[in-house]
Amino acid sequence: IYILAIESSCDDTSAAVLHNNKKLSNVVATQKIHEEFGGVVPELASRAHQQNIVPVVHQALAKANIDKKQLSAIAFTRGPGLMGSLLVGTSFAKSLALGLDIPLIEVNHMQAHILAHFIDEENSPKPQFPFLALTISGGHTQIVLVKGYFDLEILGETLDDAVGEAFDKSAKILGLPYPGGPLVDKYAQLGNPKAFPFPKPKVKDLNFSFSGLKTSILYFIQKQVKENPNFVEENMNDICASIQFTIVEILMNKLKKAAKQTGINQIAIGGGVSANSGIRKALKDAESKYGWATYVPKFEYCTDNAAMIGIVGYLKYLEGKFSDQSITAKARYVI
Ligand code: ATP
Ligand code: FE
Repeated sequence: IYILAIESSCDDTSAAVLHNNKKLSNVVATQKIHEEFGGVVPELASRAHQQNIVPVVHQALAKANIDKKQLSAIAFTRGPGLMGSLLVGTSFAKSLALGLDIPLIEVNHMQAHILAHFIDEENSPKPQFPFLALTISGGHTQIVLVKGYFDLEILGETLDDAVGEAFDKSAKILGLPYPGGPLVDKYAQLGNPKAFPFPKPKVKDLNFSFSGLKTSILYFIQKQVKENPNFVEENMNDICASIQFTIVEILMNKLKKAAKQTGINQIAIGGGVSANSGIRKALKDAESKYGWATYVPKFEYCTDNAAMIGIVGYLKYLEGKFSDQSITAKARYVI
């Protein structure tokens, strides 16, 4: 089975080809235009998707060495995401499926961040059902109980900002360019995580909150800069290490609670923030500390990419879960 997958939910245009559960190609065109605005500008994102989508699909087919006539189905991101961005991928996928007269398969982006673990890769064991998935991305922070490929239950989620936003907004306070998450990670690796203690929020159950942390970082920096205008430059590594340490602790504490509550010790992470070195290390350490089996996706499958849409497409294809041509994009789409 050959699946062509399309992802256009935010600011990356991506296309991938899968042969069964194996990735043949996974092309991502990242939109640089948003950097100068310090965040994604929806209107510009949809225009860039429109420009990128045909070349990106051609590249994905060429890299996979596949002719479009060999495709078995087209999978696409239906949501959640920015409506204007989703519309480009959705319309393109519908048209291509209609033209080639092959099935169309809609995919939930957050489910794809989780099921990315089932893309066949050498030396990468797969999580066993039931497992807990911590999805940490630019728009979401969720703990999901995964009982089967299509049997998912959200146990907890953020009440305000997503963890990726917490990274990006903290980076912005420090004067770092967008998206700042990877930069905070880079500096954090050179700093002292205990240098500046930040308060952790008290949130009920398995839910999260990150807006208070952002505010306390802002006030702390403003206060320090008043005394020493070069405070940020002189302490960048320690500030980033302290922010990252606090965020990782917040995530790990809730994961521990979820593991205890459910009795499940199979733990997987997904979403852009799972590229973070701090959370990766904390999870590795948890294997010996708490007896967990942990699963961390390959870097390529952490941030937005179409291969993760393709694996869900393949799994749905096997079950005959097809969509018809009346399907529309869905900006808010709960798994
Ligand atoms: P969603 O998946 O919720 O719709 P999204 O698709 O915009 O949101 P992703 O592409 O999955 O989000 O993740 C992007 C986020 O991941 C950004 O906030 C980015 O800063 C963050 N991120 C990426 N790499 C790292 C890293 N190494 N450390 C911390 N954050 C990171
Ligand atoms: Fe995403």
